[in-house]
Amino acid sequence: MVSDRALYGDLEKVLIGRDEIRAAVKRLAARLNEEYRGRELMCICILKGAAFFFTDLIRELDLPLTTDFMALSSYGNSTKTSGEVRVQKDLDQPVLDKDVLVVEDIVDSGLTLAYIMDTLSKRGARSVKLATLLDKPDRRKNDLKVDYSCFVIPNEFVVGYGLDYAEKYRNLPDIGVLSPRIYAEEE
Ligand code: 5GP
Repeated sequence: MVSDRALYGDLEKVLIGRDEIRAAVKRLAARLNEEYRGRELMCICILKGAAFFFTDLIRELDLPLTTDFMALSSYGNSTKTSGEVRVQKDLDQPVLDKDVLVVEDIVDSGLTLAYIMDTLSKRGARSVKLATLLDKPDRRKNDLKVDYSCFVIPNEFVVGYGLDYAEKYRNLPDIGVLSPRIYAEEE
């Protein structure tokens, strides 16, 4: 736990602990198992942040499903959104006539997700829904519909359980608020 301790020193506080995360993922999976019963699901992971949530969630799903991965431009080393969306890795499979579930780590301005949802609808998916681990509704810049969210959080920059700052902290098992002194130099 030595490396853990070093990383936790960069946090202002732990916001959501690992047990709470696990319970919320199970609750969401139970809901999805009901709502998609009898259907086949295509689960799309938005890389890289959602990868941890995605693999935990789909292992709780008792449904026939396929997986695919998409990567879009993100904040880079910054804690502020640029509003620009660029596809870095597209899906390998077509979404035509599929019931698609987009799995994201966090919805902030909503710009990235609005782009993804729109793109998948235009490609002819039968249905496109959005599941996010975290939702920051105070920061929304559009009327994006979030179909499923595990936690609504305040407007703070969080890391852990897949969420990074400059590619670090993804391996923290809990979600915490990053201490502003870590990114103070950038601003
Ligand atoms: P949006 O397009 O909704 O503004 O941005 C979504 C993306 O911004 C997320 O996938 C994530 O990469 C990044 N993001 C937004 N808020 C946070 C945050 O609090 N912590 C981290 N690590 N990334 C965030």
